[in-house]
Amino acid sequence: MNDFSGKSVMVLGGSRGIGAAIVRHFTAAGAKVSFSYSGSPDAAAAVAAETGATAVKADSANRDELIAAVAGAGALDIMVINAGVAKMGDPLTLDADVVDRLIDVNVRAPYHAGVEAGRRMNDNGRIIIIGSVNGDRVPVAGLTAYALSKSAVQGIGRGLARDFGARGITVNVVQPGPVDTDMNPAEGPLAKMLHGMMAIPRHAHADEIAALVLFLASPAAAMITGTTQTIDGGMGI
Ligand code: NDP
Repeated sequence: MNDFSGKSVMVLGGSRGIGAAIVRHFTAAGAKVSFSYSGSPDAAAAVAAETGATAVKADSANRDELIAAVAGAGALDIMVINAGVAKMGDPLTLDADVVDRLIDVNVRAPYHAGVEAGRRMNDNGRIIIIGSVNGDRVPVAGLTAYALSKSAVQGIGRGLARDFGARGITVNVVQPGPVDTDMNPAEGPLAKMLHGMMAIPRHAHADEIAALVLFLASPAAAMITGTTQTIDGGMGI
């Protein structure tokens, strides 16, 4: 299942966290991988040196830069749209520019990157978007902007699954719960509260999310499309 030799993969947001784990898993499985980054050039260079993947600077909030980076990757077999930002806070006081940037990175970018990848993608390709359990459930206050963005990618996934399905291309959304990364450290201030909502009370490892992504990218998953695959330790049940 985990032989991706000869496959061309792009990961948006591969310099850190879940995206870096996905880059590591695909390169270890023999794929030719490129990944984008924006604010972390040193981390990107380290992942590239470690894995042999190609790092491409492209800010997901900049539509032209993003589309050019995806187009520059050529005919992909697999596109993983992982880059995302989280901003919690009272919507009555949250800076409107911060909210709009979150929407640019978490919603507009997955739409444009998914469409551009599909334009050039080989038949039987795969598009996988990293959403969140917060696309389905909002268990605490202060998540409106983030939750709206993760609900929106469900619609992008279902829509593109219909648009590209005749070519054998599948499109799915992976919805993690808490994952131990810079965005949501296992030792962070929210950890105890989050674990209290989970059947399995711990953060996931980024490697566990990457393993699900590789399954969805494999030939075994050829008939799974338009779905949301939640991997949240039971947070959303
Ligand atoms: P991190 O903050 O640890 O890493 C985010 C990655 O996205 C980095 O590689 C970063 O690159 C990249 N990125 C962010 N903004 C941009 C941008 N404007 N342009 C290009 N790349 C960008 O986050 P995680 O690994 O935790 O999160 C990855 C995805 O998983 C996100 O979509 C997030 O919403 C989702 N998720 C995470 C959960 C968690 O608990 N950690 C839970 C549920 C979902 P750089 O630093 O180079 O800009």
